[in-house]
Amino acid sequence: MVTRPSRLNPPMECVRLHDAQTGLDGVIAIHSTTLGPGAGGCRFWTYPDIDAALADALRLAEGMSYKNALAGLPLGGAKAVLRRPEGPFDRAALFRAFGRAVEDLGGSYITAEDVGTTVEDMHEVASVSRHVAGLKPLEGLAGGDPSPWTAKGVFDSMRAAARFALDSDLDGLTVAVQGTGNVGADLCRRLADAGAHLVIADPSPARRDRLQHILGAKVVDVEEIAEVDADIFAPCALGGALTPHSVARLKAKLVCGGANNQLATPEVAGLLVERGITYAPDYVVNAGGIINVSAEYLGEDEAHVARRVAQIGPRVTAILERAAREGRSPAAVADEMAEQVIAGAQRVAA
Ligand code: NAD
Repeated sequence: MVTRPSRLNPPMECVRLHDAQTGLDGVIAIHSTTLGPGAGGCRFWTYPDIDAALADALRLAEGMSYKNALAGLPLGGAKAVLRRPEGPFDRAALFRAFGRAVEDLGGSYITAEDVGTTVEDMHEVASVSRHVAGLKPLEGLAGGDPSPWTAKGVFDSMRAAARFALDSDLDGLTVAVQGTGNVGADLCRRLADAGAHLVIADPSPARRDRLQHILGAKVVDVEEIAEVDADIFAPCALGGALTPHSVARLKAKLVCGGANNQLATPEVAGLLVERGITYAPDYVVNAGGIINVSAEYLGEDEAHVARRVAQIGPRVTAILERAAREGRSPAAVADEMAEQVIAGAQRVAA
C-alpha cells in the first residue's frame, strides 16, 4: 500500500498487483471515494518498470475524481494500470487474476476498459468480480464499449468550443487528430460527417490507413501532428500531448480531444492562455465513456446516458465563458468546479 499527498482528502490508496503465474503486474490507485466507489478504467500498456505504471495510475486516478465529480456522477476516482508482459501470456488468465484483485477490494474500485483493454477482457474480470462495467449490454440497458459515447462527448465539446473560440461551425475547419484508436477513429467519422477536413497521425498503419481511405484524411508522422496547419488540435492518444515544446509550435487555436491528462504539467495551461489558444479541459470533454460505465453499473438505460452526455457540450461552453470572464485558464476553472462538488459532498458527510 502506498500513499501520496493529493489535491483532495484523504490521500490516495494504491494496491500493488503481482501474480507471477499469470504475469499480472500493476497497480490499482483509488484517489477519492467521497462521491461513491472509485471508478476508472483499466489500462494495459507497456511500461519500463512498475514506478512508471504507478506514476501513470496516480495521475489518471486523480483525473477520474475530477471527471466523475464534474460529470455529476455518484462516483469517486480510481484507475488500474497493468504492465503488458513482454513474452507470451494467457490473456484470459491475466484478466481473471486482475478481477480477483478487484473483487478483493469489495466494491471500493469499479473497473472498465481503457487503452489496451477490451470488452472481452472485462468479461474475464466479470467471471470473478461484480465490480466491473463495459460488458456486452443487456437488452434495453446501458453497457458495452464506452468509446462511442466518449467520442460523442468529444465531438459535441469540439462543436461548442469552436463556436466559442473560433466563431465557427466545424464545417470547413481542419482538425488534427493525434491517435486514431477507438475514440480518435469514431471522432474522425463524426468530424467528416460534419464537413471538417482531417489530418491524422497514428503509429499503427492499420488504424490510420483505414481512415485515410474511407474519410480522405491526410496522414502525417506522429512527430508532426501537433505542428500541422489546423484550426483544432485533438489529442486522442496517450497523455502528455501538451508540453511547453508542443504548445510553442501549435498552429491550432483550439485544443479539444479525448485523451486523458493532456497537460504534461499544470503550468502548460498558462502557456496556452499566453498563446491565445483555447483549451477545452480533457476530463470535461471525455466524460462520455465513464457516464456510460456508471449507467451500466447502476443498471440505467441508454436514454439516461444520452441525456447526461448531451450536457457535456453546454458544460464546456460554460467553463470557457467563465474562464474568459475571469481571465483564467479553463483547466483551473474546471478543477475549481470539481473540487467544489467534492468538498460539498464532504461537508454533507461530515
Ligand atoms: P486506443 O488504444 O484505442 O487508441 C489509442 C491510439 O493512439 C492507438 O491507435 C495508438 O496507436 C495511438 N497512439 C499511441 N501513441 C501515439 C502517438 N505518439 N501519436 C499518435 N497516436 C498514438 O485508446 P482509446 O480508447 O481510443 O483512448 C484514447 C485516449 O482517450 C486515451 O488517453 C484514453 O485514456 C482516453 N479516453 C478513452 C475513453 C474511452 O472510452 N475509450 C474514455 C475517456 C478517455
